[in-house]
Amino acid sequence: MRWSDEWRTEGNCFGSVKLNTVFFSDLKTEGWWQAKMICHVCRSISDCREYAVSTKQPEGIWGGMDSKEREKYARMKSERQVKYVKEIALHVATYANNRENDG
Ligand code: SF4
Repeated sequence: MRWSDEWRTEGNCFGSVKLNTVFFSDLKTEGWWQAKMICHVCRSISDCREYAVSTKQPEGIWGGMDSKEREKYARMKSERQVKYVKEIALHVATYANNRENDG
């Protein structure tokens, strides 16, 4: 993890007041999925996730995970964490594909 704030300014959500509400959407709403899709193409996703986990951010989507997912992630051993991140990424990609196909 980069301990500077560089990852924040490189993040897809940086500086967008409009996106703030999306990143704090209710569980599994369109906004919740939208935030996750934005995160999963963000170059800062790893740093953002590690920041949110290490500072125990209580709300919102950070690093492609909601607070429950981050809590679960924090309890895992590192090998399992890698798989869990991939599972979530696949879940988001599947949602994005289905959404695209549904037009
Ligand atoms: S991973 Fe998501 S919340 Fe974190 S900086 Fe990127 S877009 Fe923003």
